[in-house]
Amino acid sequence: MSEKINIPRGTFDILPGESSKWQKLLNIFCETANLYSYQEIVTPIFESAHLFERGVGEVTDIIEKEMYRFTDRKGREFALRPEGTAPIVRSFIENHLGKEYAPAKLYYFGPMFRYDRPQKGRYRQFHQYGVELIGSNNPYTDAEVIALADHFLKQIGIKNYTLEINSIGCDKCSPVYDAALIEYYSKHKDELCGDCVKRLEKNPKRLLDCKNEKCQLIGKEAPSILDYLDEDCAAAFEKVKYYLNLLKVDYIVNPRIIRGLDYYSNTAFEFLTTSLGSQNALLGGGRYNGLVKQLGGVDTPAVGFAGGVERLLAVAEAEGISLVDSGNSGIYVANIGAETIDYALALCAEFRSKGISVEYEIDKNNFKSQLKSANRLNIPYVCIVGSEEMEGQRFTLKEMNSGKQVTLNRSDIGEKFNNWPKLSVFEAEQTC
Ligand SMILES: [Zn+2]
Ligand SMILES: [Zn+2]
Repeated sequence: MSEKINIPRGTFDILPGESSKWQKLLNIFCETANLYSYQEIVTPIFESAHLFERGVGEVTDIIEKEMYRFTDRKGREFALRPEGTAPIVRSFIENHLGKEYAPAKLYYFGPMFRYDRPQKGRYRQFHQYGVELIGSNNPYTDAEVIALADHFLKQIGIKNYTLEINSIGCDKCSPVYDAALIEYYSKHKDELCGDCVKRLEKNPKRLLDCKNEKCQLIGKEAPSILDYLDEDCAAAFEKVKYYLNLLKVDYIVNPRIIRGLDYYSNTAFEFLTTSLGSQNALLGGGRYNGLVKQLGGVDTPAVGFAGGVERLLAVAEAEGISLVDSGNSGIYVANIGAETIDYALALCAEFRSKGISVEYEIDKNNFKSQLKSANRLNIPYVCIVGSEEMEGQRFTLKEMNSGKQVTLNRSDIGEKFNNWPKLSVFEAEQTC
């Protein structure tokens, strides 16, 4: 035997049983995005490393410590994408999407990467979903992407969450607020954690985000951004709240909500849950008017959000939400005797052409073990063919729940199975 090869550290397989939940979640997300007329965009999982350095900011943790960088055979510097927004903005610029779509309303779903020490709930490959609306500065669009996120969570059935919103100002009023923060926190410099001392110079708003208890305590008395918004930013924030009310999205204003990345401005929001014990962010987003220009495009305002799939699934499970479709309506084809195998396979093909899910187990050559298997797999209908049925070009269909069975002509598949599983054969043809 050759040596066993294992999965890379910090990654996981999505196995059968689990994968159907992922599929369901993705379907709900696509359907919800479609309700708001967003279209899917798929970008490569690796990009030039410079895209993220410029797009995310070289001094952020993501780029400094966690980016999954590699050099290809020609010495080009690439990175497995750590997040979805910079690649989409790259594509928006490169494909001139602004000309065709004003605004471009995009959604995505896929794996992201970080070279982090793996620990519970932190993987090197993880998955995110998100939307980006690029090309409008109208506060309605902030409310629209928030409403889409809210709608998505409701469609899944998640109940225990709150939406917190804030405005972090623009490049005019935000620096004034930063100065106020620096002044306030400098007075407490000795009590701050090491990270926060660094943040004080690089990105003072992130001090509000620190998880350290002492830093949080100091943060309670820190100045509020809402007192520093200029007239335009304050008016825009009022409009966002106005539209959220109009769209019937519940929210609370929390002036401590900021976004971790440098390119955000104005609206910032988070959906928070306590379903996993302590308070966790389910998804977050905001406006990022500076990014398109920063990545070499024409100055274009944008807003979006992203969330983690793994956490969403964990929350759904904690809330007892079943993401498994209960409406299994498949047929298990069972045959008696080797001479009927080909006939059984032909029936399988005909059922499938009607859009019906069919299981046939070629290696189970015993009728009894086939029936057992149908039971174990919880397949609600069994199609039984023996030599008699084959000769008459017929088959017997049994509804496992009720035990009712009918014998039908093979030619019946053509019309009687058009509305499967809403099939009247069990009510109408008890005489067979
Ligand atoms: Zn402003
Ligand atoms: Zn701190």
